[in-house]
Amino acid sequence: MGLISQKIERSELKDGDHIYNWRMPGYTHHGIYVGEGKIIHFVNPKRKAGDGNLLTKFIGSSSTSGTGGEQEEKTPCSKSFCKLEKVAGSGVKLSCIDCFIKKGSLHRFEYKASRTFLLAKMVGGTCTTAESDPPEEVIHRANYLHENGYGKYDLINNNCEDFALYCKTGLWSTDKWYQGRSGQANMIHPTSQDKKDKDLGESVHRYATAIPRSFSKRQNKDLGLREDVVKVPVEELASFCASLLLK
Ligand SMILES: [Zn+2]
Repeated sequence: MGLISQKIERSELKDGDHIYNWRMPGYTHHGIYVGEGKIIHFVNPKRKAGDGNLLTKFIGSSSTSGTGGEQEEKTPCSKSFCKLEKVAGSGVKLSCIDCFIKKGSLHRFEYKASRTFLLAKMVGGTCTTAESDPPEEVIHRANYLHENGYGKYDLINNNCEDFALYCKTGLWSTDKWYQGRSGQANMIHPTSQDKKDKDLGESVHRYATAIPRSFSKRQNKDLGLREDVVKVPVEELASFCASLLLK
């Protein structure tokens, strides 16, 4: 793996890896490698607000107009499992490596990164100081969320990187107003307009190269350094999120 780019070859993929690829300058799409050439990832399903699955009542203002991570392929994939969504409209999909990376390349998200490594990164969404759980736990979470749904796509609080971070660590914030665990969302200062109708890719691309947050503020938001995150078993995630609303 390249120390700077974190680029890996397919032969280097390990089950339970959190991988990403660049979709445009400053914006990465994330997923969990579950073995046998398959990746589970979370995309903006572009559905109407209010369509139900596990966490929809908790996760707030979803962007329904933006692309938010991945657009549907115009050419269908020949692999029967690819693009399979077990909960229709959930946005949690199983894809083959080719469809995940499109024409780009694979990169491995770094866990247990040093603060120096974290702050040396000019673009968020490539590493965290948090520690990954063992691969079998990571894959269990990804499979469970694929089977049961995960919630609405949200620019700040629930994007493709948040999904992968949760699968890897089981960590969820107790702050019902600001979940935002994603490194690339933490790079930016989202405006109310961004929250309302822009997708993450556009916003990160626009802001990451213009007014990135100070290093200290980014560090404070890192999943491994935040004090408001707790371990939540995937089977209890929906009820945990519902209970946050009652507080
Ligand atoms: Zn495919």
